[in-house]
Amino acid sequence: MEAPHIAIVPSPGMGHLIPLVEFAKRLVLHHNLSVTLIIPTDGSPSKPQQVILHSLPKTITSVFLPPVSFDDLSDDVKIETRIFTTVTRSLSYLRDSFKVLAATTRLVALVVDPFGTDAFDVAKEFKVSPYIFFPATATALSLCLHLPKLDEAVSGEYRDLPEPVKIPGCVPIHGRDLADAVQDRKNEAYRWVLHHSKRHHLAEGIMVNSFMDLEAGPIKALKEAGKPPVYPVGPLIQTGSTGGADGSDQCLKWLDSQPRGSVLFVSFGSGGTLSHEQLDELALGLEMSEQRFLWVVRSPHEKAANATYFSAESIEDPFDFLPKGFLERTKGLGLVVPSWAPQIQVLSHSSTGGFLTHCGWNSILESVVHGVPLIAWPLYAEQKMTAVMLTEELKVALRPNASENGLVGQEEIAKVVKGLMEEEKGKRLQNRMRDLKDASDEVLSENGSSTKSLSEVVQKWKNLN
Ligand code: UDP
Repeated sequence: MEAPHIAIVPSPGMGHLIPLVEFAKRLVLHHNLSVTLIIPTDGSPSKPQQVILHSLPKTITSVFLPPVSFDDLSDDVKIETRIFTTVTRSLSYLRDSFKVLAATTRLVALVVDPFGTDAFDVAKEFKVSPYIFFPATATALSLCLHLPKLDEAVSGEYRDLPEPVKIPGCVPIHGRDLADAVQDRKNEAYRWVLHHSKRHHLAEGIMVNSFMDLEAGPIKALKEAGKPPVYPVGPLIQTGSTGGADGSDQCLKWLDSQPRGSVLFVSFGSGGTLSHEQLDELALGLEMSEQRFLWVVRSPHEKAANATYFSAESIEDPFDFLPKGFLERTKGLGLVVPSWAPQIQVLSHSSTGGFLTHCGWNSILESVVHGVPLIAWPLYAEQKMTAVMLTEELKVALRPNASENGLVGQEEIAKVVKGLMEEEKGKRLQNRMRDLKDASDEVLSENGSSTKSLSEVVQKWKNLN
């Protein structure tokens, strides 16, 4: 019989595209399925997106849907609303793609990320099974599945609750540390999140990019609840190059000439931006720490911490915003690259000894797989929840304290950077990270739990008509 065909629809954002592409590769290379990536968009693909899609195996087809327009949305609309809207406005194009796939392949399942559950309606029309690939933590998935109940039980804002919020299997978490999108219940973004949370229950299965050793509590609780069935399949991380910027080779060459484990990699993911004042403090803090660093710098943004989410690239030259003389003064110790670095190659390089990260889940998994300890600097989405887990539960990260005005000062930055890179506490974090790395190797081995979970899903798909 013909191999089952899977349609995968990633919503905008490198943090969705990268793990879904990796998931697709697994299906094709390890399980002989065939896959089409159907990509909703609001414009032409960014350079990093193109690099990822050009490196796909030939057995994965990718198609961009015609771009949707945001002309009628106001400028201050939240990023979540934009992401959801891109998918929702693409549904008629998606239907057209499904017509072709249903006529030419044995299309059995649709896989979306948490922002794409509106596409389930199209899957239903074609009698195709709806699935979710959840590219964030099992803790965030638990919040998502629990949100409809929380919404009914709580009036007012979650951040004003005197007691931490209890989500099954998760360490109680303060309302102010919950995901950004649930911080303002009057905002349209909250209504979207709630709508999609409810629709998570329509999925026939949810694959989550995590594993027991990282999140035993929530994973056990999700499995016990059993509805929808949850499959921990992680850590699935980029296997190809994440290069794509002009400076990629420069980063790796520079790392080649640095001492082993001596470099702190500083990067805020594909979307992260700091205010100009915060950018200054970070630069001066790195300088003050006297440690080696490789910093992916973006031009600052005063309002949004995720200003480059859709583009992954700075609009202006970020170097223009660095403190005067910084580049010259740090020349011997640091390398600063604009906008984008080949992160996987950087994290796997023997000179890299630490990672100051915005706590995007792909970045965290990439660090775990390469055993690199962290400084947690959460910016947006569910990153604060992740930072709490990394610092307080797993103890693989240090977290700098912000002062009362919300700014993390240069002395504080220098203190945590030194702490991670040259003090005993940094070594302890590194040892714990190495244990997690070993655990991640184990779960992905031939008989490992994540390998088995994915096989279970694939077997279900193979049994479908
Ligand atoms: N990435 C990269 N180079 C960069 C910035 C990001 O290769 O300069 C990759 C990174 O390796 C990860 C993804 O982009 O796979 C970012 O995903 P994450 O979940 O960490 O953060 P997001 O960008 O979604 O906030």
